[in-house]
Amino acid sequence: MKKIRCLTEGGSMKVGVLALQGAFIEHANTLKKLGVEPILIKNTQDLKDIKGLILPGGESTAIGKLLVDLDLISPIRNLIENGLPIFGTCAGMILLAKNLSNDSRKHLATMDITVKRNAYGRQNDSFYTENNFKGIDSTVEMVFIRAPYIESLSPNVDILAKVDSNIVAAREKNMLVTSFHPELTSDLKVHKYFLDIIKEAR
Ligand code: GLN
Repeated sequence: MKKIRCLTEGGSMKVGVLALQGAFIEHANTLKKLGVEPILIKNTQDLKDIKGLILPGGESTAIGKLLVDLDLISPIRNLIENGLPIFGTCAGMILLAKNLSNDSRKHLATMDITVKRNAYGRQNDSFYTENNFKGIDSTVEMVFIRAPYIESLSPNVDILAKVDSNIVAAREKNMLVTSFHPELTSDLKVHKYFLDIIKEAR
């Protein structure tokens, strides 16, 4: 019998969600709605078999410290450098940035972007908007919570969305980042976009 290779071959596709702190359950629920099996990542063993990885929002300092304590920095960095599709939302964007403009820390530091933490200040630290996103036909729902934005990037990084002239979504090869939290809305489009990156990579 002819075997047809498809995304769900051998059961549903497994996508990891780093589950140390922050909004990981919401990402797992969004993946389930899209027919994907979320794997909650708490240690290095959990990383085997995943076809993509989501780094959720939360507190980047806390998540970064746990990544170090659990010896997860090198294994995740190696997977990213070997092409594993990765999606960082909010604190996840901070973890992936090579530079932080207002913090001396660095975490995974794989993406050629300079990110400002808590970039919206106190007055406007949480808000909702709908905006365009390159590669997605209709506007995307965006929830910002003490969000960072990208202050500068190298030419190999593609800008995907801006809000009030600030860069809030970008992609560099297998790495996708958003300042906002698509998992806190009912809008599945950005997760679908990430699943398309996984399909391209296979
Ligand atoms: N302000 C947080 C940080 O710097 C990020 C906020 C979020 O992930 N919603 O880590």
